[in-house]
Amino acid sequence: MDPVLIVGAGLGGLTAALALLRRGIPVVVAEQTPELGDVGAGITMWPNATVVLEALGLREALERNGDVPADMGVRHFRTGDVLRRTVVGSTLRERYGAPQYFMHRADLHRVLVDAVRALAPNAILLGHALIGIDQDASGVTAIFANGVRVRGRALVGCDGIHSVTRATLVGADQPRWTGVVAYRSLVPIERLPQDILTPTSCIWPGPGRYFVRYPVRGGTLMNYVAFAVAPDAWSEESWRTRSTVAEVKAQFSGWEPRVQAVIDATLPDACFKWALHDRDPLDRWSVGRVTLLGDAAHPMLPFMGQGAAMAIEDAIVLARCLEAMSTVPAALERYESLRKERTRWAQLESRENGRRELSDPDPLYQSGEAQEVNRELEAFRRYDASSIPI
Ligand SMILES: Cc1cc2nc3c(=O)[nH]c(=O)nc-3n(C[C@H](O)[C@H](O)[C@H](O)COP(=O)(O)OP(=O)(O)OC[C@H]3O[C@@H](n4cnc5c(N)ncnc54)[C@H](O)[C@@H]3O)c2cc1C
Repeated sequence: MDPVLIVGAGLGGLTAALALLRRGIPVVVAEQTPELGDVGAGITMWPNATVVLEALGLREALERNGDVPADMGVRHFRTGDVLRRTVVGSTLRERYGAPQYFMHRADLHRVLVDAVRALAPNAILLGHALIGIDQDASGVTAIFANGVRVRGRALVGCDGIHSVTRATLVGADQPRWTGVVAYRSLVPIERLPQDILTPTSCIWPGPGRYFVRYPVRGGTLMNYVAFAVAPDAWSEESWRTRSTVAEVKAQFSGWEPRVQAVIDATLPDACFKWALHDRDPLDRWSVGRVTLLGDAAHPMLPFMGQGAAMAIEDAIVLARCLEAMSTVPAALERYESLRKERTRWAQLESRENGRRELSDPDPLYQSGEAQEVNRELEAFRRYDASSIPI
């Protein structure tokens, strides 16, 4: 059987590879970088993502590498008052069928690489940057910058926000610079005063600023992302651009002491920034034997923390469609139709959530709007892509 070609060994591509291999469908995963890995940052895996990863046999690996928050809260950016606190702990498996984890992205990535290689040791090709695609009635050929060509029965573009596959399928996209910069860092926990660490995970919405922090790696590191409206700062869409502690500090001057304490504890060489760009949902993302998955299909702003989760849901639905349907084009069409509405909602709601998180929390929390939105987001997280009808 010709393999399914997966372009990109990010969280989405690896999950797709694992889901296909578990069904006995061979894969080739082509990754442009010469080495595997992900950036040093935290990631929230909501129950709708962990339920899929558990269905793929990763329950123990997640338990080993993930942190389950005792509680989650919202504090006021100026007074530090707790606006909302939710007990989490072990209650999530009862409520959602799976827990929520905070993870180091590199740990999650390694878990997926190990699981793929355990089933297919040579499936991942490094140093293979896709530059072209050629499809006909019987198959599809991926053309790489190093001169290699690989033939498969389907090609899945999991090549992220700057997807070459998407450009080939539907043309160049039109990202809009939002004017919002996300600063991120991982702070060793011993650099932080213990009395500022409640709730376990906490967000601070505020006018033009938004601060999120949660622990990873067994509570040894505190991950934070600090969002600031800063249209003139610079606009590069990359995880690897360095920033300075002084830049973050300046953006959050006047914010309550718990936020200042986390920023002050940042190691000087461990601060990065990412310029947020927004893109509209695509009308379609499959043509014949080629489709898109994850950020390549539906890039979204990070204000719901659902980007990787949507890629993980895509992966299992795609594998289930390829297993169930008799032809590849029919399977890809079915996959797209099953994923479009939910991912479109996530894209648009992430945009809206950003608008809310970057505004004055007082009217939102006093009017009940914030509580209503929270209920909607909870409902969205109660979803098991591994068992929806195909
Ligand atoms: C500040 C911020 C915080 C976030 N927090 C969360 C969170 O808490 N929870 C969550 O679920 N999501 C979060 N996200 C979103 C999440 O990071 C992405 O949605 C997710 O990583 C997408 O996975 P992917 O596999 O589609 O793409 P990627 O992880 O970007 O992987 C793409 C892969 O394709 C490779 N590639 C690219 N081009 C080519 C090519 N031409 N040929 C071969 N390989 C190629 C790349 O090298 C890379 O390995 C956040 C995003 C941001 C910006």
